[in-house]
Amino acid sequence: MKIALAHGDGIGPEIMTSVLELFQAAGVMQHVEFVPVEMGQSVFEQGNTRGMTDGAIRTTEDCGILFKGPMGTMKGAGGKSINVTARKIWNAFANLRHFMALPGVETVYTRAGIPVSFYIVRENIEDTYGGVEHRLSADTIQGKRLISAPGSDQVHRFAFQAARRLGIQNITCGHKANIMKMTDGLFLERFKAAAKDFPEIQTSDVIIDALCMNLVVKPQNYQMIVLPNLQGDIVSDLAAGLVGGLGFAPSANIGKHISIFEAVHGTAPDIAGRGIANPTALILSGLMMLRHIGFTKPAAVIHNALFAALEAGVRTGDFGDKSKPALSTKDFTKGIIERLGQKPKAAAAPVPEDGTSPNFKRPERPAHQEVIRTFANVVTQVTGCDLYLDTNLSPIALADEMSRAAHDTPFKLTLISNRGTQVWPTGSVFTECVDYYRVRFELKDGVAPGSFGQSRCISLLDKVAEKFTVCSYELLRTFDGVKGYSMAQGQ
Ligand code: NAD
Repeated sequence: MKIALAHGDGIGPEIMTSVLELFQAAGVMQHVEFVPVEMGQSVFEQGNTRGMTDGAIRTTEDCGILFKGPMGTMKGAGGKSINVTARKIWNAFANLRHFMALPGVETVYTRAGIPVSFYIVRENIEDTYGGVEHRLSADTIQGKRLISAPGSDQVHRFAFQAARRLGIQNITCGHKANIMKMTDGLFLERFKAAAKDFPEIQTSDVIIDALCMNLVVKPQNYQMIVLPNLQGDIVSDLAAGLVGGLGFAPSANIGKHISIFEAVHGTAPDIAGRGIANPTALILSGLMMLRHIGFTKPAAVIHNALFAALEAGVRTGDFGDKSKPALSTKDFTKGIIERLGQKPKAAAAPVPEDGTSPNFKRPERPAHQEVIRTFANVVTQVTGCDLYLDTNLSPIALADEMSRAAHDTPFKLTLISNRGTQVWPTGSVFTECVDYYRVRFELKDGVAPGSFGQSRCISLLDKVAEKFTVCSYELLRTFDGVKGYSMAQGQ
């Protein structure tokens, strides 16, 4: 079988060479052909803002699996993160990461005898990572946070299926549904819905800030945690810290058609080119990949050799017993290759009799982009609109203007908020306002919801826009009779 291979930037080529040498020595190359693809910094530098050539895209889509080294991202304006682009265009919706205390990697937990081994499943497509951002006024920028029911369903189902496969009995959903009641509320609701199909797995949920504290205080309480994208990104690095740092955290981005395997860490520009990088995270990612394609026997053999080497004090400069010499990436790799066939004293991976060749079958290429749905046949009714205005008026002056605009329409002004806090009809004089307001119009008493479509809202917008800059607009609707919009803070 073929796997697309991108060496990556910075330390990428050094650690990828290490993994390929290990694969060669363990006989992986007899069954897998790695097809090089052009992605990363050098492609950005050719003026390609996607950071990957058309050939790289075609090869990855043909193979169904991409094994990649870390790739640099330009900060601020300019090219988008190639890592995020790759996960998103190929819909690798679930990011599975395993955080496990490794032999020879000393941490406060290993010293205290506290076992740490848990998985994080991070939603990989949605949330603020949509990157839908706009400058709405001189002083205010908005980023949209999108959470969808089918997107949440995909990641939750994947988590439960992975837990079943890995023999995990307990999954925790982390969220901030106490504040983001609708977005995180939906993520949590879909977690509970998915759980019904996996009754043997126990579930719980926890607010993200408490989760961070619990993970530091009692990491042994967790087996698998499923999280929205941004929260998952942050908690993953916290989790890497629990097991010794980013050099030990592997990662698999799993999709229906294409999956991407990479280390959690970045390109480490500060040590690139010096031949001292730690390849462990990329090796562990490579092992997740071999297991994903059903090539489980060499995965177990390499896993045992890596652990045996770590137990023997084989280490790069970033970890381990400082009284032992810090090896180069090359010598570290040699130390593992020499131990192929050995088993570590602790936690040896069982070497299966089968899994001696890959059994991966890439699903058929879809003929077109699929629309995925969770809730069909929902009855919606228009109840009003929120208009977002770029203005410096005071709330009272703005209320006067808006009440006038609503005259002769089916709507009345019900709320003005600033940065999400209600400032009219009631509010606190201590609330400071910026140059960007939301004004909410809802149906006047006696006007039935759904008695017209959104065109009346657009007419109102048109009227307001004669005097004000309307920088965005949201339709207010009920869905099967339930309000599809949140209240303002203080309302
Ligand atoms: P980083 O992970 O590259 O480095 C953070 C620190 O950890 C540095 O001190 C580095 O030397 C050390 N480190 C990381 N990996 C190591 C390894 N394998 N062995 C030894 N030490 C290691 O994070 P950063 O400096 O914030 O990011 C650098 C670049 O990498 C940025 O352009 C960023 O966008 C990119 N990045 C890419 C990925 C990816 O490709 N998936 C992930 C994260 C960051």
